Amino acid sequence: MRDRLNNCRYNNCMHINEPGCAVKQAVIDKEIHEDRYVSYVNILESMEAKSY
Ligand SMILES: [Zn+2]
Repeated sequence: MRDRLNNCRYNNCMHINEPGCAVKQAVIDKEIHEDRYVSYVNILESMEAKSY
């Protein structure tokens, strides 16, 4: 997963809605388990909620 995060073309990518995101593509290609991606997104959203 960490390798995939580094593969992403965006420095500050959230890996949620960005077109061309390597992480999203890895999920589509089944290289990243969807459950892991979903929990990653959930963590991200809870972090965002704190910062606002
Ligand atoms: Zn990304």
